Amino acid sequence: MHFLPNFTLELARRKGLEISIVLFDRKDFIQKGPRGCNLCAGVIAESLIQRLERRGISLPPRKVQRKIGAYYFQLKSSGWLLKHPLKKDAITTVFRGNGPRFSAQEGNISFDDYLLEQIRRREGVEIVPCPVNRIELPPDLHNPVKIIYGSGDNQLSMEAELVVCAFGLNSNLLNKIVKMGFGYVPPETVRARCMEIFLGEEIILEHFGNTIYICNWRSAGGMFYAGIIPKKDYLTMNVVGERDAGKNELMKLLNLSEVRKRFPEGFKPPENFCSCSPKVAFSAAKKPFTNRLVIIGDACCSRYYKNGIESAFLTAKAAANAVFNAGVSESDLRDEYCRKIKRLIIRDNFYGRILFKADELVYRSPFLSKVLMRLAIDEEKRGKGGIASVILWNMYTGNIPYRKIFRMALTPAFWWKLIIGVFSY
Ligand SMILES: Cc1cc2nc3c(=O)[nH]c(=O)nc-3n(C[C@H](O)[C@H](O)[C@H](O)COP(=O)(O)OP(=O)(O)OC[C@H]3O[C@@H](n4cnc5c(N)ncnc54)[C@H](O)[C@@H]3O)c2cc1C
Repeated sequence: MHFLPNFTLELARRKGLEISIVLFDRKDFIQKGPRGCNLCAGVIAESLIQRLERRGISLPPRKVQRKIGAYYFQLKSSGWLLKHPLKKDAITTVFRGNGPRFSAQEGNISFDDYLLEQIRRREGVEIVPCPVNRIELPPDLHNPVKIIYGSGDNQLSMEAELVVCAFGLNSNLLNKIVKMGFGYVPPETVRARCMEIFLGEEIILEHFGNTIYICNWRSAGGMFYAGIIPKKDYLTMNVVGERDAGKNELMKLLNLSEVRKRFPEGFKPPENFCSCSPKVAFSAAKKPFTNRLVIIGDACCSRYYKNGIESAFLTAKAAANAVFNAGVSESDLRDEYCRKIKRLIIRDNFYGRILFKADELVYRSPFLSKVLMRLAIDEEKRGKGGIASVILWNMYTGNIPYRKIFRMALTPAFWWKLIIGVFSY
């Protein structure tokens, strides 16, 4: 995700500094399929849409696949629809690249390319569509860092004051950075599985509408969470779990009777479809910085099972602020960058883990699931978001920090409702 140049240019302008930024990316986001895509389900949180709009970046209609206004929580035999507490269609689904492999759509619908477009014409920014192969750290802070880039025999190098690594979790650079020996340890990961299914706009609207379907199940390998995300004429199916999710988990999802009945009668998965198995982090990296080098985005840390794109935005902002307010030495980055991301993301994930464990307990108890479901349905009928709906909505959309949701879940108002729910069942 290319959020950093935006922050950096703004801070430099405010401080009256002239800087130049060279951005390397090995992907061409106007390609279809995994070659042009950063392997993600493409749900842009309402909070990120607002953050982008505050920076003057609003997504043009051609980049928006669907506006989402509700989540459907599928239980074994029933489920419940949770609408946005303010009845807005505020979450946005996109394609990170230029649509799925084998898709026939024309034009440029890539979200990531749109982010690049925001900086392409800015003075002081050069975009180099090339892989970075190696980074060489300086012997001391008086010397620049060296970047070696290019394909095949065409290897070039350049020097820089600072390298910001935003290469994600699926990059060949990850292990090279570990081997540099300054103490970086990448986040622990599991493999998720994504699949794009073409159904056509009418069928998507009729069977899925503007709703994301959430479904959990437990298997020998642990808990799995699935999301079925409607795009314009495709469905993105996404499975992530406590261990690697593969084709079997995707097929299991497609064959769950409660999921199957959402599809048109006689539906069979197509023979050729776009699919990928990217990594998802479930812990934070250790020491994502050293003199003249800082790691942001997924390769540093992201919110527990939620809003990785927004985490990339937040870590980019924290890194830019740290560099302009303190400097590029290891101790500057430890004091300014590390402290900030710990507060914003890493400590918050502690509460996220507790909430997801509680969610699993509720899911495993048919009685508790039904009590919570009745509570949320009852609040829905009254027409405004009650505390149960607000907690569930924010937990599944990741719209507010986990610690705030945790605090809400501890309020007497919530427990009172829950106790009444239990006794009146
Ligand atoms: C299955 C799945 C579904 C997800 N769904 C969502 C979702 O719906 N919403 C959400 O907010 N988050 C989601 N995420 C998380 C989200 O994708 C990531 O958190 C986010 O993309 C991280 O951004 P990043 O910049 O750190 O890395 P990336 O987005 O992976 O970007 C890394 C960039 O670095 C480039 N790169 C890598 N190596 C090199 C190299 N050597 N030289 C040059 N360039 C290089 C790549 O080409 C790429 O453009 C999902 C993740 C997974 C795995």
